[in-house]
Amino acid sequence: MTDDCGCDDLVSHLFQLFDAELEGAECARLRRHLEGCPHCSELADAEEHIRTLIRRSCVEHAPESLRTRVITQITVLRAQGRSEF
Ligand SMILES: [Zn+2]
Repeated sequence: MTDDCGCDDLVSHLFQLFDAELEGAECARLRRHLEGCPHCSELADAEEHIRTLIRRSCVEHAPESLRTRVITQITVLRAQGRSEF
């Protein structure tokens, strides 16, 4: 695990990253962490997959089971990150 940009940091900004709500430098920092962290890149892949599914199928409601699984993972990640401090 890297120390410069923590998993907790990335997870808190994951949705903003995908919504392009972050500034260039912040975005680049988080993407660098994603590239070096299999755990977080897995989370990002899941989120990207959900968004692609929603866009492609134009479903009326989001696939709840998938989203719930991602949120559960994020909650676990956050709990792990906190316990390290
Ligand atoms: Zn990470």
